Amino acid sequence: MKYAPKPLPFKKALKGISEKALVIHHDKLYVGYVNKKNEIADKLAEFSHGKKDLSSANQSYSEFRALKDGETFAVNGVYLHEYYFNALGGEGVAAGALADAIVKKYGSLQNFLNYFRACGMSARGWVVLAWDTHEAKLSVYTGDAHNQGGVWGAIPIIVLDVYEHAYFIDYGSDRGAYIDDFFMNLNWNAANAVFETVRYVGR
Ligand code: FE
Repeated sequence: MKYAPKPLPFKKALKGISEKALVIHHDKLYVGYVNKKNEIADKLAEFSHGKKDLSSANQSYSEFRALKDGETFAVNGVYLHEYYFNALGGEGVAAGALADAIVKKYGSLQNFLNYFRACGMSARGWVVLAWDTHEAKLSVYTGDAHNQGGVWGAIPIIVLDVYEHAYFIDYGSDRGAYIDDFFMNLNWNAANAVFETVRYVGR
């Protein structure tokens, strides 16, 4: 069964982030990852159901390796963008159990914002505030590509896309201003809803 793209959970304009940028980001780039995810899944199904020969699998190059490598890139491209869009469209007013847990861990909300912002300036792709199920605690991880830097067993809660396509149209090279506006647009209700579903995993 084909994976269907999720619609944006908010209207196509935010504070600072234009409709043009969001339409390109969601309708072209995100949907493009969904389409590749489906295409790769169809091709891998031929291998997993005995229709294609698995004996050519090879770590230097093989069609099977190319599909498996593309699979994690496309699937993470879909999931990371869905987390990113899910936590946008709000008023940016920190509240709820997640805000409390952040203050408890980082000492203050501002400390967290400063740290997360620095992660955004350091990463080449993604910043993820996650619930790390191994240690049952909040952690911020960074990645330079969809399938690099992810930590197994860490469940994303707030995800920031720092690829140039996310901000260059509206901010030019001023990534810091984009990150500041990301927090201005953060939907803490949505982030809290995710936190409520994951906060007891691993405890
Ligand atoms: Fe993106």
